[in-house]
Amino acid sequence: MAPFAGWCAALDEVPDEVFAGRLLGDGLAIDPTDGVVLAPCDGEIINVPASAHAVSIRTPHGFELLIHVGIDTVRLGGRGFDARVKPGARVKMGDELIRFDLDLVARAAKSLMTPIVVTSEGAVLKNWRAPGAIRAGEVLFLIDGAAVRPGSSLPQPAAQSAMRAQQAAVIALAHGLHARPAALLARRAKGVGTSITLGAHGRTTDARSVVGIMALGVRCGDELLIQADGEGAQQAVAQIMAGLEEAQRIDLAHTSAPANAAANVPAKAPMTERAARSGEMAGIGASPGFAVGRATRIERREIEVTETGSGALHEKTELDRARSNVRLRLERVRNAGGAERQDIIGAHLEFLDDPTLNESADELIARGKSAGFAWRAATRRSIAALEALDDSRLRERADDLLDVEAHVLLALAGEARPMHLPLPEHAILLADDLLPSELTALDRRRLAAIALSGGGATSHVAILAAAMEIPMLIGVGQSLRGVPDGRTIIVDADNGTLQYEPTTEAVARAKLNVEARLARSAALRSAAARDCQSLDGTRIEVFANLGSAADAIAAVENGAEGCGLLRTEFLFIDRATAPPEDEQLAAYQSIANALGGRPMILRMMDVGGDKPLQYLPLPAESNPALGMRGVRTALAHPALMRAQLRAAMRVRPFGVVRLLIPMVTDLSEILAVRGVIDSLTAELKLEARILLGAMIETPAAALTAAALLREVDFLSIGSNDLTQYTLAMDRGHTELARRTDALHPAVLQMVAATGRAGKAAGKLVAVCGGVAADPTAVPILLGLGVRELSVVPTAIPALKRKISALRIADCEDLAQRCLTLSSAAEVRDLVERLAGNAGD
Ligand code: PEP
Ligand code: MG
Repeated sequence: MAPFAGWCAALDEVPDEVFAGRLLGDGLAIDPTDGVVLAPCDGEIINVPASAHAVSIRTPHGFELLIHVGIDTVRLGGRGFDARVKPGARVKMGDELIRFDLDLVARAAKSLMTPIVVTSEGAVLKNWRAPGAIRAGEVLFLIDGAAVRPGSSLPQPAAQSAMRAQQAAVIALAHGLHARPAALLARRAKGVGTSITLGAHGRTTDARSVVGIMALGVRCGDELLIQADGEGAQQAVAQIMAGLEEAQRIDLAHTSAPANAAANVPAKAPMTERAARSGEMAGIGASPGFAVGRATRIERREIEVTETGSGALHEKTELDRARSNVRLRLERVRNAGGAERQDIIGAHLEFLDDPTLNESADELIARGKSAGFAWRAATRRSIAALEALDDSRLRERADDLLDVEAHVLLALAGEARPMHLPLPEHAILLADDLLPSELTALDRRRLAAIALSGGGATSHVAILAAAMEIPMLIGVGQSLRGVPDGRTIIVDADNGTLQYEPTTEAVARAKLNVEARLARSAALRSAAARDCQSLDGTRIEVFANLGSAADAIAAVENGAEGCGLLRTEFLFIDRATAPPEDEQLAAYQSIANALGGRPMILRMMDVGGDKPLQYLPLPAESNPALGMRGVRTALAHPALMRAQLRAAMRVRPFGVVRLLIPMVTDLSEILAVRGVIDSLTAELKLEARILLGAMIETPAAALTAAALLREVDFLSIGSNDLTQYTLAMDRGHTELARRTDALHPAVLQMVAATGRAGKAAGKLVAVCGGVAADPTAVPILLGLGVRELSVVPTAIPALKRKISALRIADCEDLAQRCLTLSSAAEVRDLVERLAGNAGD
């Protein structure tokens, strides 16, 4: 029956293509003349969104109906609507469901036209009401047929928990559901034990699939329908809504931060395109800058695969093995890189485990195809879906899929994707297009610029190039292939041009231009080169976390005042035998040299747990994170520990190296290491005791920091592990990733305890875990007594700028307030609110 009086019309009259196109189902629409929605049939209420602009009801025969009051009314956020029922309520035909303010909604909505549609498959509608005036309670249509539950191809919940929740949300993300928000939603969806379907534009997908979400083609302003079935359906939908809010916050942060090179890329790119003059090719500047250098071409070799497999079981095992090799490798690269690299590799990891991709590959393997053929066909299928979309940002994600495809195909062939490609000095790389892993494989110091015949301005490779400050021109066209290898060329990414046969004078002018630009950016960096202090003059050391000599060079360029954490285990991770002492010494010395006399805090090998070493097979443990790792492993292998300590203590000049002990639990561990150090001090005839620090990574160490400080010279908080062990949440757990937040007040209490102990002993407390680079965390850490922050090199200039604007007394007040809160979210809210009030 009609839920209210008004004018009955066909769905075609509804000014919304989703309803008019019957993408949600068939039915009729009514333009209402009163503001009370009555139940159109007997049934159970399945969903009323918080905005109360719609209601779903299930009939006793299992058909589901949606009444959507007006068009674009979700944007009112509940203004003018009042729900009279809750999900789960049983209603009789004619019961009141929603009241709404007809005038208010009519003024604010795009249209009042209200579709009443049957969303279940298998429904046959008959006895249609003809268009015209209709009164509440008059028959609209009859439903016949057998109801089929939508989404039946997805994993179904147990029959006894057949509950459904659904909610529509208008996507306010500037770029729609592109890779990052898609990955975020998929991660959340994987964390709930309920199947969730997302729908838009008439397409639906399993919410656990990043590829599927992107293929929905949801853009800013589009409506996304979230549906969940089974027990916990409401919570599942709420998870996705929370994911959207989170994506929105991240999106706002990106689009409002002018310093973020990556976020600037899409906006800038089209402006740098212009017509070419003679001797010039035109392109689009995807990463700003200007360079002169030698044309250097890289060609991508197509990886061959055979079509027929040797048995489904064998091929499936091979594919799983290749995927897990690639996963390990990508995780390592991710952990060693800056924020952009981490995001991008994070998206690649999501692709690697994407359920849609993997299901499609498994299906082909089951049909007799080889693992390589199946993986390629599955990725190409997803790429085709993305490329068909009318949205360049999503189309460009195809490059990321190609990248993951190549990683896996090479791993299947027993090869690793090369991480280091040779380049001449001042190379200007020419290629048809470039994958993110190919770019990160290049030697940054030799790479002057990139020019691509294809490529996308918002592709991940462009984001990476911008983060690495490499000028990049894309879309130059096929004529780029005519530029001979080795020719001196000029790329002006600011103006979108490539000069392919410049005169000698033009080259000389260009070189002067490059020098002038370098001088300008050096001046900008010089602010970061100064020692850091807060606004009130308190000295705060800003150090870098390093894993190699190349990192050290970049760190110093970015203003690192020293190395706060040398993760020595990364120097020797890829080898089958333990590094001899002299080899270790050479590696440490080269990093110390690159640091030019700045302090270098060398952490003893932190092996075990999530960092296995090939040459140190550890016994299988049921819970490695709580087993033999850090100093426990070192003490169990005294020869290895001694060789490392000797190498570290032989670095010259003596005094630049300070030692750091990982995963300390109590004083006895420090005393044991101290014993070896003392004997080596005598053996090496050193003039003084080397400085020794302990990492605070366990609650035990934080709470006994005062005792530890009797034997060590400084403390360094490893917030990554401290958070994991305080919150009892695996730091590598995807679904818990958002909750493993070091700003949880419990973790802050640990930092506070450490800070108090440091102050009482007059010794330095540092933070070298990821939270040190989090702008929200910085004032709190300083307020809790931390006086050294060690972060990824690229974060240093911004961190120094941030610290120079803070007063320690304000930080102390803030920190005390944070300690009284009950969740990381409350802490973040408080800091952001205060920053907002201060006009930060
Ligand atoms: C930490 O745990 O915060 C830390 C710096 O050590 P790692 O991340 O190497 O375990
Ligand atoms: Mg750690």
